[in-house]
Order: sequence, then structure tokens, then C-alpha cells
Amino acid sequence: MNLATDLVGAVARHEIEAFFQPQIDVSTGKITAVEALARWRHPTKGLIPPGEFIPLAESTGLIHEIGAFMLEEGCRHAARWRRDGLAIHVSVNVSALQLATPDVFDRLHTLIGEYELPEGTLTIEITESQIIADVAGVAQRLERLRAIGLGVSLDDFGTGHSSLAQLQDLPITELKIDKSLIQETTANGALIAVAVALLQERGVRVVAEGVETAEQLNLVQRIRCDRAQGYLFGKPLPVDELDGYLTGTR
Ligand code: C2E
Ligand code: MG
Ligand code: MG
Ligand code: MG
Repeated sequence: MNLATDLVGAVARHEIEAFFQPQIDVSTGKITAVEALARWRHPTKGLIPPGEFIPLAESTGLIHEIGAFMLEEGCRHAARWRRDGLAIHVSVNVSALQLATPDVFDRLHTLIGEYELPEGTLTIEITESQIIADVAGVAQRLERLRAIGLGVSLDDFGTGHSSLAQLQDLPITELKIDKSLIQETTANGALIAVAVALLQERGVRVVAEGVETAEQLNLVQRIRCDRAQGYLFGKPLPVDELDGYLTGTR
């Protein structure tokens, strides 16, 4: 209850912050993309992870304000990196509730226009479970995102009990294999490899989440994922810390 009250106005009080986690190109080892992840700097409780306030934001409607802020931050930093000569793709997590608002496409179109982001620079991530809840409806909205030059990523693949068949026709540009699949030893290797190959044939980029060990990176390389994200390469960081990383590896 308290937390819900505290969350009201948190964006305006600058308590919500976008952290960024690097993604590496598996074939070059270079950082080519980052994922924006929300954090709440609570005045007394410290740094609160999104798992504790995003669901609250969704049930109170505050997700619209927080989501808009995260999209703006993603675009703002993408534009800044571009000015610095760094072609970094930025992914932002979006709730299905945000995608269901009628003006979201106009606002996104305006946003990428204002920041002059080339096609594919900004990718919208939506979780498998939120897609599965309404595949046909979501598919239509994803089409609209594609039409304005955004990438569309299916997040947490492997957790939502969907089949490849259900996802086959979705207009996605990227699939993120959930960390639970990556971390469950090599038992899944052959199966994931088939899924990866099928999607890549359609031009879908495949990203592995939660890569923590050299063994897991080895699996990711064997199944030919395009990008990898995980503590092995870097945790989600405040943007000024990430900047150091980016210029250091240029
Ligand atoms: P996600 O989009 O699947 O993001 C990846 C999560 O995995 C992040 O947790 C990240 O810190 C964590 N992670 C990355 N690498 C590793 C690793 O090697 N090992 C382990 N154990 N974990 C790793 P985080 O930041 O706590 O975010 C949790 C979820 O909250 C996100 O999962 C996303 O679904 C949601 N979320 C975060 N920011 C936003 C936002 O701005 N809007 C919305 N709607 N949801 C958000
Ligand atoms: Mg995500
Ligand atoms: Mg995920
Ligand atoms: Mg997740």
C-alpha cells in the first residue's frame, strides 16, 4: 500500500532512473546494443528493482508515465551515443498496457523523429506471456511499431508456455531467449538451436539473456545466437558508468 502511494509522482521527483545493460555481438565480442532497465531510487528504501514496482505501476496506471519516461531516456541516450560516433542500439521494455493506448504509435513516431534515430535503433521489448495473452491483438500493434521503423523483440522466450508455431507469424525482429533456458545446462541446447535457426532464416535476430559463465557463452556460440547479454559482460549500470565502458571499448 505504502509503496503504491510513494510511486505516485516518482517520475516527476526524478526518483525513477534508467539503468543500461550491455549486449555483445557474439561474433565480435563488441557492445552493439543496450537494454534500458528501470530502477526506483526510493528516498528511504534505497534502490528498488523493477520486479517490485512495475507490477504495481501496471495495476495503478502509473506504468504510462514510467513507460513514457523510459522510452524518452532510451531515445535521448541513443541520440547522444550517435553524436559521439557510437552506433548503439537501444531496447526498452514496454508493458502491453502501454501498447494498448491509442496514441502510443503517434507518440513513438514523434519521439524517434525528434531524436532523429535511424530505423531499427530503438527496439521495443514485450514479454512472451503478455503476447500470449492476446496474440492476434498484439500482432497488429507490433505491425504498427514496425511500420514506424521500430524493432520489436519478444522477451523472456521459453517462460510463457507458447509454442514456436504460435509465435511463427508474429512480426518480430528479435527473440530473446530467457535466462532460465540459457542457465539450464546443455539439455536444451539442441532444441533451442532448432528454434534459433528457424527464426534466423526469417531474419529474426536472436539474443541470449542471463549469460553468466564461459560455459553458457559457449552454448550461445554453438547455437549461433546473434547477441548475448548477462553478468559475464556487465550488469545493468547507471548511464554514466556505462558511458565509461562504451568509450573504453570503442
Ligand atoms: P527483462 O526485460 O527480461 O530484463 C532482464 C533482467 O535480467 C534484468 O532484471 C537484468 O538485470 C537481469 N539479468 C541480466 N543479466 C543477468 C544475468 O546474467 N543473471 C541474472 N540472474 N540476471 C540477469 P531487472 O533489471 O531486475 O528487470 C526485471 C524485469 O522487469 C525485466 O526483465 C522487465 O521485464 C521488467 N522491466 C524492467 N524495466 C522495465 C520498464 O522500464 N518497463 C517495463 N514494462 N518493464 C520493465
Ligand atoms: Mg527485457
Ligand atoms: Mg527477459
Ligand atoms: Mg523478465
